[in-house]
Amino acid sequence: PAMQSPGELDGGAYDAPHVLFIPSAGIGHLTPVFRVIAGFSSRGIDVSVVTVLPTVSAAEMDYFNGLFADYPGVRRVDMHLLPLDASEFTSEDPFFLRWEALRRSVHLLRPIITNAAPRITAIITDITLTSCVIPIAKELDVPCHVLFPTAATMLSLNAYYPGYLEQLKGGPAPGVVGDVDIPGVFRVPRSALPPALLDVNKLFTKQFIDNGREMVRADGVLVNTFDAVEPAPLTALRGGKIVPGYPPVYTIGPLKSHATKAGDKAGGAGDALLDEWLGQQRARSVVYVAFGNRSAARLDQIREIAADLEACGYPFLWVLKTTKVDREDDAELAEVLGDGYLERVKGRGTVTKGWVEQEALLKHPAVGMFVSHGGWNSALEASSAGVPLLVWPQLGDHRVNAMAAVSAGIGAWAEHWSWDGEDTLVTGQDIADKVKEVMADEKLRASVAVARKEAAKAVAEGGTSYRNMHDFIAKLKGVA
Ligand code: UDP
Ligand code: UDP
Repeated sequence: PAMQSPGELDGGAYDAPHVLFIPSAGIGHLTPVFRVIAGFSSRGIDVSVVTVLPTVSAAEMDYFNGLFADYPGVRRVDMHLLPLDASEFTSEDPFFLRWEALRRSVHLLRPIITNAAPRITAIITDITLTSCVIPIAKELDVPCHVLFPTAATMLSLNAYYPGYLEQLKGGPAPGVVGDVDIPGVFRVPRSALPPALLDVNKLFTKQFIDNGREMVRADGVLVNTFDAVEPAPLTALRGGKIVPGYPPVYTIGPLKSHATKAGDKAGGAGDALLDEWLGQQRARSVVYVAFGNRSAARLDQIREIAADLEACGYPFLWVLKTTKVDREDDAELAEVLGDGYLERVKGRGTVTKGWVEQEALLKHPAVGMFVSHGGWNSALEASSAGVPLLVWPQLGDHRVNAMAAVSAGIGAWAEHWSWDGEDTLVTGQDIADKVKEVMADEKLRASVAVARKEAAKAVAEGGTSYRNMHDFIAKLKGVA
């Protein structure tokens, strides 16, 4: 739909807000940004989006193209990255390196911001760029908000961690990270922290600390969550219990997809064959397995998951990624899964490497549970659909998210299963047992049903997320 700014509608007497979004890299980071943009599009706000091409993955490229096709009124602001010498870093993670390249290039936005017409009235940056963007925004006197793409629990860790490290300096073992007891939230065991954070010299840790510190200078923080699912960290952050003077935290989730594909309307994967197969399955019988966009399991672990799905007795749909970045993926499923596997499970199980419309898929009545890595977008999509999670964290914030999911009653967490950097194999038998346990867990199903209602209530007129979005937009329009 073509977008008109209110400035045009009322003859220019009113200066429509013009928001510059500065997204980061990775589908999990783009998802909340694009969903906020979709929400803004019908509310008289001009939107520009900083766009760096090529994206790290092909899925991100499709995602950007989809956004600009669906919202022709959204302005694309191209940014060319300064070259980054990757040999300077120990991390080879292409997403971390992209974040760093972005951080070192954001000053190039200064003239873009200064010369934009209509004038940029606010900036919304992804968390990963916070400490580089806020100083520029301050210098140019443009309000700057941060979009936090994962759980409020993770936000509370981000807020607390710089101070925690300071405290360590005065203790017996400076620099040796232990369990982190976030005031008013919970104690995150050392083993559940994003592994990079254990090493204060890691690139990710430096960014995390700088961003966490700078956050107090933001004008507001938008989080894709809702109050009822994470009350403790939200109360602690808003009450200044973690960091005094923390900016207002606007919970605005669960954010909805802007997808216009068929799957979104009907509840389905957006793929005709898959949807036909789903339509043939009994209600709540299908085990859906997906680990997000950048968690690739090892081959031996993939084979154990395959064995579990074959043995567990339920129909299943498995979105299988074999590489962290989809561009590098030329593996054939049949080869990865071993001889005859796809034939043996034919009809009962579906394995795909392609993109599925996950948010819509989870709403399909046939889906009974979701074995997930614990990406927060996935967790919220599952809770909105009333589908219980079995969280098997893979890396980064996934264990913290798993703790949040358990405490919210939206999922179970396979606590002892290995993740990033550990090479113990989780056996097919262990996975099958856990899947059966979660499928049969009526108590969990009941609490997920409650969360689903709360999620719907939060975004319905008068709900917490609805009101926060309303207040935030009023602030952008200068009428708050
Ligand atoms: N997603 C999807 N189809 C796919 C793979 C991913 O729709 O085939 C979406 C998923 O619904 C979610 C996002 O991509 O909105 C993944 O974000 P999440 O935070 O769960 O995990 P990440 O990919 O960041 O690890
Ligand atoms: N994060 C943060 N501050 C930062 C950078 C990242 O709080 O400066 C959070 C953000 O929510 C991110 C999470 O840390 O999703 C963990 O990052 P991870 O390694 O899992 O990468 P991602 O899943 O975001 O691609």
